[in-house]
Amino acid sequence: MRSRYSAFKTQNIDYLLNTTHPNHRTSDDRAALDKTIASTLWLGLKVLHSEFNSGSGTVEFCAFYRDVLPAGKVSKAAVLQLHEVSRFIQVDERWLYSQGQHLPAIKLGRNDLCYCGSGEKLKKCCA
Ligand SMILES: [Zn+2]
Repeated sequence: MRSRYSAFKTQNIDYLLNTTHPNHRTSDDRAALDKTIASTLWLGLKVLHSEFNSGSGTVEFCAFYRDVLPAGKVSKAAVLQLHEVSRFIQVDERWLYSQGQHLPAIKLGRNDLCYCGSGEKLKKCCA
């Protein structure tokens, strides 16, 4: 899961495609990922819950980002969230992404740890 977030951040589309379960790949995945990556600046990841049993697992996470505008400038609007439960299927020794369910944004308090991973409270960091 964290490795897929890193792949989004480092624009590693091949890794994202290779870690998607074959039954859940579509012919326009690469173009869709290209578009997502070009229009997103990822700021941080919070893993909220994860559960792995034999053969399948879920990870609930919240990824924080800003939109990148078509001119290449980063939007100054509020930080956005992708709050999702991702499902993974184990194939041989590898966990492959199968699908995700989007959830409403979480509320971060000023005293919560910042989404950027600094270890500081939000109010003293990126807020
Ligand atoms: Zn921060």
